[in-house]
Amino acid sequence: MRCLVVEDDPDIQADLKRALEAAGFVVDVAGDGDAAWYAGDVEDYAIAVLDLGLPRLDGLSVLRRWRAAGRAFPVMILSARGDWTEKVEGIEAGADDYMAKPFQMGELVARLRGLIRRGAGVLSTVVSIGRLRLDTTRMAATFDGAPARLSPLEYRLLDYLAHQPGRAVSAGELAEHLYGATESGDANAIEAIVARLRRKFGPELITTRRGFGYLLDAAA
Ligand code: CA
Repeated sequence: MRCLVVEDDPDIQADLKRALEAAGFVVDVAGDGDAAWYAGDVEDYAIAVLDLGLPRLDGLSVLRRWRAAGRAFPVMILSARGDWTEKVEGIEAGADDYMAKPFQMGELVARLRGLIRRGAGVLSTVVSIGRLRLDTTRMAATFDGAPARLSPLEYRLLDYLAHQPGRAVSAGELAEHLYGATESGDANAIEAIVARLRRKFGPELITTRRGFGYLLDAAA
């Protein structure tokens, strides 16, 4: 799942990128408000982490512009101050949650996952896909109750599809969410991952809707 991190402090930016990648996200970073506004306007993100105090364009303005342009991905605001008026402003500008610095990375990751689940209407951190169970907190899977080995890309693909219940997702959209800006992956790469997963776990795991994309037979 692709996440945009907007933070001008290089140390915090690097910490966030590292922690979110370790949690299975594909991470793009922006270090100022202009770059953030542009990235959020043209790219497809599952979620964004947005610092408020930014050079060039402040975080609240970035958020208001995204929302005015119809960009609906969940947004977690980060602020140096624990000022409640800022929280209210952020939420009124369209933020979904708010954390004050300094924050615990583990709490941030858990809250981001919670926002993504709620946005997708997924109620549990453990998703059943036929005989496969995906534990999205531990980034682990079991098949018929036994531990199942998934490569990072296989996990990211199942995790993304599991959060799009009932919707066929195109190979292009999957590539957007499985590969970062610096990695190369296209529809052919996605087809290869799907083929590998079907060989491992059975052809019924992932359904192909011709002309639309891939779909999981998921039951939470
Ligand atoms: Ca800042």
